[in-house]
Amino acid sequence: MKLAKKLFRLTTLTLVLVGLSSGVYSAVAQKPTGPAKRSAPSSRAHNEVISSIVRDIDARNIERTIRTLVSFGTRNTLSEQNDPKRGVGAARDWLYGEFLKIAEASGGRMTVEKQTFEQPKANRVPQPTMLTNIVATLKGTQPESADRIYVVSGHYDSMCNSPTDAKCDAPGANDDASGTAAVLEMARVMAKHQFDATIVFMTVPGEEQGLLGATYFAEQAKQKTVNIDAMFTNDIIGNTLGGNGVRDRGNVRVFSEGVPSNETTAEGNTRRSVGGENDSASRQLARFIKEVGDAYVPQFKVTLIYRRDRYGRGGDHIPFLERGFPAVRFTEVNEEYKHQHQNVRIENGVQYGDLPEFVDFAYVANVARVNAASLAMMALAPTRPRNVAILTARLSNDTDLKWDANKEPDLAGYEIVWRDTTSPVWTNSKAVGNVTSFTMKGMSKDNYFFGVRAVDKDGNRSVVSYPRPVGRTPADRPAPSSSQP
Ligand SMILES: [Zn+2]
Repeated sequence: MKLAKKLFRLTTLTLVLVGLSSGVYSAVAQKPTGPAKRSAPSSRAHNEVISSIVRDIDARNIERTIRTLVSFGTRNTLSEQNDPKRGVGAARDWLYGEFLKIAEASGGRMTVEKQTFEQPKANRVPQPTMLTNIVATLKGTQPESADRIYVVSGHYDSMCNSPTDAKCDAPGANDDASGTAAVLEMARVMAKHQFDATIVFMTVPGEEQGLLGATYFAEQAKQKTVNIDAMFTNDIIGNTLGGNGVRDRGNVRVFSEGVPSNETTAEGNTRRSVGGENDSASRQLARFIKEVGDAYVPQFKVTLIYRRDRYGRGGDHIPFLERGFPAVRFTEVNEEYKHQHQNVRIENGVQYGDLPEFVDFAYVANVARVNAASLAMMALAPTRPRNVAILTARLSNDTDLKWDANKEPDLAGYEIVWRDTTSPVWTNSKAVGNVTSFTMKGMSKDNYFFGVRAVDKDGNRSVVSYPRPVGRTPADRPAPSSSQP
C-alpha cells in the first residue's frame, strides 16, 4: 500500500520519448510557466497481476490452436455447419469446447455463450446463413465496475481467393487463426484472475463476408445499451516476414481513428473549434495501449498508426466504432499478401496460401501479451473520468478543468495529462488528488492538449478522457470573421 501510494505521487510519465521515432517531438521546447511540474519519464511496470499474466501467455498454446483451426480444412462462413471434421461448424464447436474448459478454472466467473443468428442474403452471402459468435464473459467482481465491459476479439472464419467459395481449402493460419488463438490464450490466462470490470473474450465468423459476426454483437450491445468501454480486434497478427522482405518481430501496429466514425455534425463543429481531431476516445485507447504495452512487454513495441485501419481497408472494430464504442485494430507490421486470401498452390516455385509455416507463434504471443496487459489494466483501474470539461467561460491563460466524481471505492484520485499540440502522445502528468476540478495555472489551453485519468489505490490508471469545452459553445461565439474571440 505504501509503495502504491508512493508510485501514485510519483506522477509517473509512462510513455515518453521511447519509441517516438517520428522526430516530431521537440523535447522541452515550451517549458510550462505554471507550477505544474514536468514529470520524470518512467515506464516501470509494477502491477504483479499484470506481470504474471504477461509471463503466463504461452506461444505453444497459440501454435496448437492455430494448427487445430487449420486442420478443419476451411472455416469459410458458408462452409459445412454440421460436419465434425471440416468447415466453419467444426471450428465453432471446437472453440466453444475450449472456452468451456477454460471457464472451469474461473471459479464460476466465466460463462460461455453461443450467440447464433441468421444472416439474411447479402453481398457475400448468397443464401440466408446461420452465424455463431463464441462469447466468453469473465464477470467483474467490483459492483461499481462489473457493468463496464472490455471486448477482445478475433475472427475464426477464413477464405481463399473467393469469399463465397465454401469448398476450397482455406487454412487461414494468420487471417485469422492467429487472432483467434491470441484471444483463446488470453482467456485461459486471465480467467484465473479477478478484475473489477468485465472482460469479454470473443471469436466471430463472417468477417470476410462483411464484418457480420462483429456487427451483430455490436448492434445487440447498442440496443441493450451495454457499456462497452473499449474493443480490440486482433486480425492478421502472426506474419513477421513481409512481402517487402522486411523481418520485424519487435513491433505491432495499433490502428485508431482520430475523428469518431459516428460523430454528428454538431460534435464535429465542437471538435474543430478546439482542435480535437487527434483526440477521439479510440485514439486515447491506442495511446493507453502503447503506455501499458511498452511498460509490461518492454522488448516489444507498439507502433501507433493514426488511421482507422489500413489504407482503405476494414475490420471487426469498425461496427463498434460506428456505434460509438472506442475500438482499435492490432495487426502485424509488414503484411505478406501471398499468404492472405489465396488458394493454396505453388506457382513458379512460389508457395501461396495462408499456411501455419508462415506464422511466427512467438510473435503472436507477444501481441497477445500487449492485449492482455492493456485489458487487465483497464479492468483493474477505475473507469475513465466522465463528463470531463474545459471551462471556457473566462478568457484566461490558465486552464480550468472539471469532471464527475468516480464511484469506485478504491479510487485514489486523478491525474491531469498534457502534451504539446504537435506531440503524438501524452508526455506529462500531474497527480491532483481526489478532486473533481483543477486549474492548470499559467498553462493556456491554446498551447497544450489536456486530458484527465483516474487512478486507484494500487496505482492502476484508467484511459485518458479528453475534455469537451463547456461554458461557451461555438454558437455563443461571434462569427469566425470577427477579429475578437
Ligand atoms: Zn482478417
